[in-house]
Amino acid sequence: MIHNNILDCIGKTPLIRLSRMFTDQSITVVAKMELLNPGGSIKDRPALYMLQEGLKSGLIHKDSHIVESSSGNLAIALAMACKIYGLKFTAVIDPKIASANLQMLKLYKANIEMVSEKDQNGGYLKTRIDTVQRLCRQLPNAVWINQYANPNNWKSHYYGEAEEIINQIDRSIDYLVVGASTSGTIMGVSRRLKEKFPHLKVIAVDIVGSVLFGGHSGPREIPGIGASTVPALLSPDEIDDVIYVDDYESALGCRELLEHEGIFAGGSSGSSISAIKKLIPTIPSGSCVLTLLADRGDRYLDLVYDEEWFEMIKRRHFNKNHLNQENFNLQSVV
Ligand code: PMP
Repeated sequence: MIHNNILDCIGKTPLIRLSRMFTDQSITVVAKMELLNPGGSIKDRPALYMLQEGLKSGLIHKDSHIVESSSGNLAIALAMACKIYGLKFTAVIDPKIASANLQMLKLYKANIEMVSEKDQNGGYLKTRIDTVQRLCRQLPNAVWINQYANPNNWKSHYYGEAEEIINQIDRSIDYLVVGASTSGTIMGVSRRLKEKFPHLKVIAVDIVGSVLFGGHSGPREIPGIGASTVPALLSPDEIDDVIYVDDYESALGCRELLEHEGIFAGGSSGSSISAIKKLIPTIPSGSCVLTLLADRGDRYLDLVYDEEWFEMIKRRHFNKNHLNQENFNLQSVV
């Protein structure tokens, strides 16, 4: 089969059982390989869906100038999709962006607005949003995609990977473990999977320093996961539990995934792997845990896979000792 363009290659990602990493035969851990999307991440799905639905509704037209705030992956996905649709695109990013992502955006010839000031929570999200709003006032035909509040974000995951999982898997799923930022992924995937598996427990993975589930704001280095402001898409009532991991544990998870499974994945995938390690001792044998590996490791060569960075984050983890044993346990959000 010959596809018309790169966007037709989004989705249809495989499932892999992580049996080398999680050797307890009584627990099945399955990963959806979202890192195999052509733009390199899970964010290809919402980028395409939000553009397509915007075009269908008339909100977006051929002269539109797409503007979006992103920690990297959505910006790359939008740059790819806007190129195919012939749309102008401006990415509002912050200094935490991985250098590979910044380089890729330049190669896609996206317009780049780099913010520099942190918000009151110590992150850049609010500053990025303020910049988007200013650009929308200044640029002709600007359209803000608004991934933090656009329902087509979560719907892309509901109709996308969640529907695929249901068609791919021949057993019941008991736990869904997903890293959250805009929350589009966890909301969309859990809503669809709960229809099929009503007993499903939805476990969000958040990073220490993120305020998504009431955590204290603080320094965090890994892009993609966590948030410094609670997004409109997040509906905490639909989430059963939250597991916190820090940057060091996430990097460790990435390194273990590479070591045992040969999967070269990005920071939030390592966060999910570490979270599953904390979850497993608390769940009944025979359970099936599903996770999503959101992006590839290439974009994290100067973070997760860099020895100096790893040592620095390791020292922070042990010195500060900000993760005592209690934090390792599940933290209820209700
Ligand atoms: N992992 C990675 C690598 C991401 O780029 C993102 C999106 N920022 C997420 C996880 C979280 O996804 P969502 O925004 O849908 O919550």
